[in-house]
Amino acid sequence: MGALFCKHCGGDIEASDKNCSHCGMPLPPGFDRSAQKKFILYFIVLVIFCVVMVLWLPPDWTPFVK
Ligand SMILES: [Zn+2]
Repeated sequence: MGALFCKHCGGDIEASDKNCSHCGMPLPPGFDRSAQKKFILYFIVLVIFCVVMVLWLPPDWTPFVK
């Protein structure tokens, strides 16, 4: 996942880097967008999992509701 480029020198950088490995310039906060995407992906998977579990569980809730 090295598809990001430094604004200062144009060198390719990792999203997890705090500083550019080529020119040493600090990268702006919030630069780690791939991690945010990952988090959103995990969240969506979790929501889908919850929906599947609700649909998959037996609909007979009488022993619990009573
Ligand atoms: Zn740089």
